[in-house]
Amino acid sequence: MQEKIRQLSQWITESKYTVVFTGAGMSTESGLPDFRSPKGLYKGKDPRDLASVYAMNTMARDFYDYYRMRINNIKKVKPHEGYKILVRWERLKLINAVITQNVDGFHLSTGQDQVVELHGSLKRAFCSECNKEYPASSILDQDIPICKECRGKLKPGVILYGEPLKTFPMEMANLHTSKADLFIVIGSSLEVSPANYFPVEAQRNGAKLVIINLESNSLTDEADLFIKGSALDTLNTLNRILYR
Ligand code: NAD
Repeated sequence: MQEKIRQLSQWITESKYTVVFTGAGMSTESGLPDFRSPKGLYKGKDPRDLASVYAMNTMARDFYDYYRMRINNIKKVKPHEGYKILVRWERLKLINAVITQNVDGFHLSTGQDQVVELHGSLKRAFCSECNKEYPASSILDQDIPICKECRGKLKPGVILYGEPLKTFPMEMANLHTSKADLFIVIGSSLEVSPANYFPVEAQRNGAKLVIINLESNSLTDEADLFIKGSALDTLNTLNRILYR
């Protein structure tokens, strides 16, 4: 394990363009559950069934209760030290961009500059009819939150299951992926499409692919390096090696 982390630290120092790609496992050590663990379930329901346009339209109360719970959870916790390490590495030009599937807004709130939020953010909300932007608190304030302008339902600022990803983040993620010679995936099952296309594409373009995860995922066999461990521990150890 230590050998693998040492190898990765060497690749980071040699790389000309490193992209870090994060998933829900990056935030579990801050206290936010991922989707695959038993703790990720909500009142016995799979969150993937609730996080959909279908749920918003057919079981609005459950849908908004679920999102109120998630927005409130984010307010209760803080990004862990691993997030700060990534900010430091960006300032020192050790990494060039972060692409995240997470919707907790932690990379931006920690001060990361080059961040692509592929799935949006729970820090914002939008009207599902006229697209007017609202703060996330608008979802907390009303049982079924409604737009003041057009009376459309407010939608959390995230991509729901069944919705396409937004064009601009996709373009930015494509751009960073095409430039990468080192692509590090942290805390993702890589089961969500099309986000899971970026690591595959990076490797196809010649980048080294590294996976840091508590368990195997669909790309651990193809990866150039698989570090089986926690996001926070691995980032701390890497940081110590890089600054020794
Ligand atoms: P996922 O739940 O499918 O997979 C998480 C992966 O991270 C698992 O393989 C798990 O073993 C691993 N993991 C858990 N804790 C870890 C840790 N401390 N260190 C290293 N690995 C760890 O999550 P995903 O792949 O990101 O995809 C599912 C969807 O979940 C995404 O669309 C994302 O928007 C959404 N999601 C986001 C948050 C968040 O914003 N914090 C939370 C839950 C779900």
